[in-house]
Amino acid sequence: MEKSMAKSTEGFFNQYGGKYVAEVLRRPLDELQEAFHKAMNDESFIKELETIQRDYIGRETPLLYAETATKLLGGAKIYIKLEGLANTGAHKINNAIGQCLLAKRMGKKRIIAETGAGQHGVATAAACAKLGLDCTVYMGEVDVRRQQPNVAAMEMYGAKVHAVTSGSRTLKDAVNEAMRDWAANPDTTHYVLGSALGPAPFPDMVREFQSVIGKEVKKQAAERNIDIEALIACVGGGSNSIGFFAPFIDEKSPRLIGVEAGGIGPGVGENASRMTGNASRDGIMQGYKSRFLLDDDGQALPTRSISAGLDYCGIGPQLAALGKTGRIEFTSASDKEALEAVKFFAKNEGVLFALESAHAGAEAIKLAPKLPKDKAIIINMSGRGDKDIFITCPVFRPAKWKQFLISELERLNEAKDIHDANLMNDEK
Ligand SMILES: *Cc1c(COP(=O)(O)O)cnc(C)c1O
Repeated sequence: MEKSMAKSTEGFFNQYGGKYVAEVLRRPLDELQEAFHKAMNDESFIKELETIQRDYIGRETPLLYAETATKLLGGAKIYIKLEGLANTGAHKINNAIGQCLLAKRMGKKRIIAETGAGQHGVATAAACAKLGLDCTVYMGEVDVRRQQPNVAAMEMYGAKVHAVTSGSRTLKDAVNEAMRDWAANPDTTHYVLGSALGPAPFPDMVREFQSVIGKEVKKQAAERNIDIEALIACVGGGSNSIGFFAPFIDEKSPRLIGVEAGGIGPGVGENASRMTGNASRDGIMQGYKSRFLLDDDGQALPTRSISAGLDYCGIGPQLAALGKTGRIEFTSASDKEALEAVKFFAKNEGVLFALESAHAGAEAIKLAPKLPKDKAIIINMSGRGDKDIFITCPVFRPAKWKQFLISELERLNEAKDIHDANLMNDEK
């Protein structure tokens, strides 16, 4: 029998994965692994998880037939899994709720998380608010400044946002700081890692909590006799893609296609293509072995993408392994193609894709015309695009957007009543 690639063997997916951490983190990781396996085999935990998925997240999410898009492209039928309809606007809540529920069961009262653009921080803060847990989110100081709407949302949910001032003051420094906190407070604290990467058991755990996406798709497709040729998902760290693909990994079909950020070109620093790019190599960083964008000294290279969520120098170990075996095909979409896909699906389907998810949409636009009409492609719309207005508006309507920002600033400066009436002013 062929070896299953649907989960790790002792934390490894062929040559990738593992648990490359300081001694102090071994025990918390081992305890987490044991608690996770126990919980997943406990009916009461599964029942609790399913109830909150239904009532709070809003599952199951719909599988939409994109009729107009299909007609316009003239090939395979296009379906869109609307993960963006999940509460908080993206798939990240599936993992955050799962891990927070597990933490509660382990008797932990305090949650920490890292965040880059802020999406995982928002999901974790919301999950903690729902479940009554204390929440601290580590975020690079540079990101705190750039991502104020998400910082505001996290604070609304009651989380403390801790600005990290070490290193490049971005995501990887936030991860280091979260690891340090966890190592110092393992008994009271659980670290909710945000994607299908990091040391074992995180890649397995995040995949399991996200696999609700793939399980629903499998059921929805069977009920409607949809003949799936390909599943397409965008790949940042890899959580929405691996959750979407999970129930299909050990089967021969459908084709599984992962789309990375092609950014503005193939050069170093112009994209975040860990599988398809030419600066990609094997490495060990932040506790796991995988494919990374690294320089000759093993240091992380700068990355670039219009979508903040795809902008990371590493990829989850299971995705890297499945890319090597060929089970997952990797490709990329450029910033421009992603923006065009946002427009295409908004105009023709009334669905506003997040820029990340639009990378998957862009690949579907390329692939559908090459396939027969009786086959289907399913796109995972990992999130909705409301969060992206500060990026899309300056591109699609720069002059009007600039005018809007100027007039908003004037309004804030002039309107004394806003300050006077602001009884909830949190700024010191
Ligand atoms: C964070 C994010 C991603 C990328 O993360 P994965 O772990 O690769 O799924 C994709 N889409 C959206 C909407 C996100 O917020």
